[in-house]
Amino acid sequence: MQQMSNNGAVSKAYVNGTIFTADPNRVWAHAFGVRGNQIVAVGSDDEVIAEMGSDAEVCDLNATLVTPGFVDGHFHLLMTGEAQLRVDLVHAKNVAEIQTLVKAHAERHPHAPWVLGKSWLFEAIPGQTPTATMLDEVVADRPVLLDANDYHSAWVNTAGLRALGVTAETADPAGGRIDRDENGHATGFLEETAADQIAWAHLEHITDDSQRLDHLRAAIEGLNSSGITSVIDMGLNAAALRAMVVAESEGWLDVRVVGHWLMSREGSTDDHLAQVAEAARLFKEHQSERLRVTGIKFIVDGVIDGCTAHVKEPYANGTLAAPIWDYGALAPVVAAADAAGLQCALHAIGDAAVKTALDVIENASRVNESSGRRHRIEHIEYLDEADVPRFAQLGVTASMQPVHCDPAIQANWRQMLGEPRAARGYPSRELVDAGARVVLGTDAPTAPYAPLPNLFIATTRRSAFDPSLPANVPEFSLPLDDAIGYATANAAWSCFAEGDRGRIAPGMLADFVLMEPDVLASDPEVLLRAKILLTVVDGVQVYRAE
Ligand SMILES: [Zn+2]
Repeated sequence: MQQMSNNGAVSKAYVNGTIFTADPNRVWAHAFGVRGNQIVAVGSDDEVIAEMGSDAEVCDLNATLVTPGFVDGHFHLLMTGEAQLRVDLVHAKNVAEIQTLVKAHAERHPHAPWVLGKSWLFEAIPGQTPTATMLDEVVADRPVLLDANDYHSAWVNTAGLRALGVTAETADPAGGRIDRDENGHATGFLEETAADQIAWAHLEHITDDSQRLDHLRAAIEGLNSSGITSVIDMGLNAAALRAMVVAESEGWLDVRVVGHWLMSREGSTDDHLAQVAEAARLFKEHQSERLRVTGIKFIVDGVIDGCTAHVKEPYANGTLAAPIWDYGALAPVVAAADAAGLQCALHAIGDAAVKTALDVIENASRVNESSGRRHRIEHIEYLDEADVPRFAQLGVTASMQPVHCDPAIQANWRQMLGEPRAARGYPSRELVDAGARVVLGTDAPTAPYAPLPNLFIATTRRSAFDPSLPANVPEFSLPLDDAIGYATANAAWSCFAEGDRGRIAPGMLADFVLMEPDVLASDPEVLLRAKILLTVVDGVQVYRAE
């Protein structure tokens, strides 16, 4: 501390505040002091002013609530930035409104090779089938691509079909469909793997590094304005990492990133072990306070909405889905990663997938005689009661996304899973009560990332889109102060960052957020309209509300 002050680092005493520290040693305080990029004092106004000395600038917080900067426990940074730059069609009620928005977006971005949009709703389209002609009426000279709200299909104009090389001769890919007219000509609507393999693969292919930097910039700006100062990225690949390295070296990576390298299921165990070796190399190479590779990520199963999550008993429609990674494929790879000191994150949504994930982690710690690796399971939407205590026993982090259980998007989920299973959906409280360490995040861009509405859902189990809807299994709701801790201190712990972030305590990096009104002193509804006033990373303001 003394050293930093001798170096001439800026000292500030933030006084007269309502400080929620997320630090169990001292949950509340009135003041804290920052020297350089570090928090050096926490306490009463007098204590902090005395400790900071006469050279410190005193900042009056006017009783404003301060929390640690939020740490989103499950995020996709580049994808979120890409989505943020698209025109958002979720509020368009009909084709005319979609056309107006797309036309305006195209005019605002005259040099973009593609006009990109997202989140149109089927109920806005007559017969729920969009056509290229509808888009040609407003943009004919450039390709247009608009993703559906569920990210399972894409809508393109005629120039788009041409750019993608889709003709009457193009065959439907397995698991997908190109909509056609009576003459076999594509009409502009690509479903499932047709969207993925034809449209999205093409976009990924034509995206260059400078565009990725734009995506990253957009994501960081959005995150800072919503109070997020760190994310755990769950889909790191070479291109995304390259962009983050550039941002860090140029000094604008104003969100700390801890990344999990995304494992591809293709190939044999040898191929998978080669991916682990690559992740282990990146783990050694990237270890800064702003950018760190911590482990790998597996997508063990699919999702309940599409009946692709791996469950023990059939869905309401009678189907059962195999896992993407079964025990035999997963066990040797998780054990190798564990032996290499990598953290494993396993996307597991159905009860059978969650059991497999716990089993492979248990196996790894047995064969390696390891412990304390902080492996984690992502989503855990429905699990067997018998597996609940295993999280605490094995030291496995339960990484959950309250935004995914928003009652406004639950109808199909509940119908597919059926009762009594749906009554045990997203059991965050049950896991907490069984001693599991729960971490909150949003999985953006599959859901909005603003932390305060996410906390509203966590603490009420009601909808942030439509709070009048009935709560979704309200007995699983979390007390708000605990939930904030899960979105800050626990999320930091889950990626081995508890020593420098997630709490307002001496020795922590100076990442914090000011908001109003005081959400901890009000009804939970306040979380839906509270405002982030100021976001600080490393002691430096990265966002201030007008
Ligand atoms: Zn994800």
